[in-house]
Parts: sequence; structure tokens; C-alpha cells
Amino acid sequence: MTQLTTTAVKAGIEADKAFGAVTPPLYLSSNYTFEGFAQPRQYDYTRSGNPTRDLLADALAELEGGAGGVITSTGMSAILLVTHLLKAGDTLIAPHDCYGGTYRLFKNLSDKGHFDIRFVDQNDPIAIQSALSKGAKLLWVETPSNPLLRVVDIQRLSELAKQHDCLVAVDNTFLTPIYQKPFELGADIVVHSTTKYINGHSDVVGGAAIAKTEELHEQLCWWANCLGITASPFDSLLTLRGLRTLGVRLQQHEANTETIIDFLSHHPQVDNIYHPSLSSHEGHAIASKQQSGFGIMLSFELKGDEEEIKAFLSALKHFSLAESLGGVESLICHPATMTHAAMDKAAQITAGIKPNLLRLSVGIEDSKDLIDDLKQAFLYAQQCQYQRKVS
Ligand code: PLP
Repeated sequence: MTQLTTTAVKAGIEADKAFGAVTPPLYLSSNYTFEGFAQPRQYDYTRSGNPTRDLLADALAELEGGAGGVITSTGMSAILLVTHLLKAGDTLIAPHDCYGGTYRLFKNLSDKGHFDIRFVDQNDPIAIQSALSKGAKLLWVETPSNPLLRVVDIQRLSELAKQHDCLVAVDNTFLTPIYQKPFELGADIVVHSTTKYINGHSDVVGGAAIAKTEELHEQLCWWANCLGITASPFDSLLTLRGLRTLGVRLQQHEANTETIIDFLSHHPQVDNIYHPSLSSHEGHAIASKQQSGFGIMLSFELKGDEEEIKAFLSALKHFSLAESLGGVESLICHPATMTHAAMDKAAQITAGIKPNLLRLSVGIEDSKDLIDDLKQAFLYAQQCQYQRKVS
């Protein structure tokens, strides 16, 4: 069987039937001629279908092991797309600590009556059973979660959901199919913000919804065209190009993450580190079972107050203070004021997002440079704190 990393490299290679180009051509055209009266070709209008975009959809469907995929303009529009499988009165169960944008979308659509939402701690068996037994139609799973890397058991949740005739959608953005295969664990739909590791170069915003069955795929295609949220051909081509190096990028990302975790674990200014590779992490056992890699994202709490956080962040040179993740460059983010600012304070506290929490998206730079950078930023934060105390 072909390895996933090979499938990613080969995505769209030798797809050109006209000239035999090795890499795929970019079909920018918004529309396509009919062969004749009432004789449409395979494609008629790029909102509904485009050859370049389809190469990416096929590649992601193959990598995830699904029947077909839909490529959308953003990760959020892929999530929006999946919510269109629901109708008013249906219940959607979502994690209480999901990505802030997902939380905002679900909450506001539910406030407008599109469906009913229940945010639950999916590791709480009583809460999940009670939510499912109230006739839920879609169970949304995000594992590992953003930003605390909490892990939930996809197989167990899928088995429970199936008993209640409830679909399961998994946001696989953090791990990619290289590290986690939700369909093999019972999921019906896999969603990605391709903006992150799939593209990997922080130059495209995009998304994908991949269906396990043809029937679900058809429904998603229909809604994507109806809503007008399919991705542009150019973004699709860039993402396809990024996808090819997914395997080697992940190797370097992961090696750097391990080095940084080791460094942070011994640092006196660090409180808690959140990463599923740590045996102290509550999701370690499940992650070891259901993931083939522990992933690259990590979060930690810096000892100190807001002033120290500001000093630490301002001193960093190789970690850019920015939202998003999954690019080749290292990023740092303060979830409470950035990615999760859409959650009110109470929701942040319920989700465990403390004001001193920092999230790292570790890039593929030389790990020595990253460690040196962190070292000097910790020192600077400490010096600033000392100055404040003595002045
Ligand atoms: N899902 C997860 C886990 C995310 O982290 C994000 C964005 O950060 C999204 C979905 C939304 O994706 P996009 O920003 O591409 O719309």
C-alpha cells in the first residue's frame, strides 16, 4: 500500500492530459463552454466544480480515506458547510473548549435558531450520554483541542454517537491524516483548516470537508455550491503544492517540538506544559492509542503576570506574535486575547484558558536558534520583573 507521505508528494503530479506537464496546470477560468446544445462538459462553472480544485479534493480524500472532499475558501466555511446538514430543532454537540471561531459560529447560528447547540466536556461520560440521548444529530469533535491539546477518544465517541444515530465530524487540523485517521476510528466527516499544516506556508486561507460516504459527499458538494463557499483555483493550486512536503515538514516540526518541550520542562519560569506526548498530560494514553504522532502544537503557562507576558513576547525574535499555526515559521500566541478572544471570560475559564497561557506553533527552523530565542526572552522577562520590584 502506498504510504501517505508518498500520496501527498504525488498529489496532482502527471494529471495534465493535454501536454503531459509534470505539475498540474492552473485552470483559472470561471466558466466552461458547452459542447453543444444541452451538452455540458464535466465542468460548467467554477463555483460548482473546477479541475484544479478537484485535484486537491481528491488528494485530501485519498489521504483521509474518505469517499470525496469539498475544498472551501476557509476552514470556517468548511465548518459552516457541515452545519448545513442540520435543520432547525436538531442538536449539535460541540466541545466546550473548541477553537474560538468554531465556538462563535456554533453559538451565533444557534442563537438565530439554525439548530440547538450543547457545549460539553467530551471526556465527561455522563455529560456526553445525556447530550446524545436528547436526540443529537451531529457530534463535533476537535482533538487535540486548541489551545490546551486535550484529547478525546474518537472511537469511543463514535460508537456512542452511532447508538443514537448521530453523525460524527472531526476537525483534524492539528494532526493531519499523517498523524490521525478519524474515519478509521468511526467518524463520518473530517474537516480541515488547510490554512495550517496541509498548506504549511501561511500564504493561503482555506478549508476542506471530507466525507466517508458518497451520499454525504454529494450533500456537502450540493451545499458548497449553493452557499458559494468553494475555494479559488489559485488557492487550491498553492495548497496542493504545500501538501507535497507535508511528510518532511512534520518530521522537522516534531523534532523541534520535542526539543522545546524538553527545554521548557526544566525551566523555572514555566508552570504547566500542555502536550499529549507528556505522560503527565491527561490525554497521553488516548493519544498514544489513536494518533501516530503526538503533534506539533504545544501550550504552556508562564509564571508571572501580564507585564511579564508582555516582556517575554516582546523579546522573542524567532517566534512571531501571530494567530494561526502550522506554517514553516514559528509562531507564538496569547489565546486569551487572540485566538480565543471570541469566548467571554467565563467560557475561557470553563475551557481552562488562563491569562498566562501561551501557545506555540513550532516551525521548522534550526532548533538551536529557537531554544536560544526562548532562553533570552525568559531572561528578559525576569529582568523586567526585577526592575519593577526594585523601582
Ligand atoms: N479549526 C481549527 C482547529 C483552527 O485552529 C482554525 C483556525 O485557527 C479553524 C478551524 C478555522 O480555520 P480558518 O482560519 O482557515 O478559517
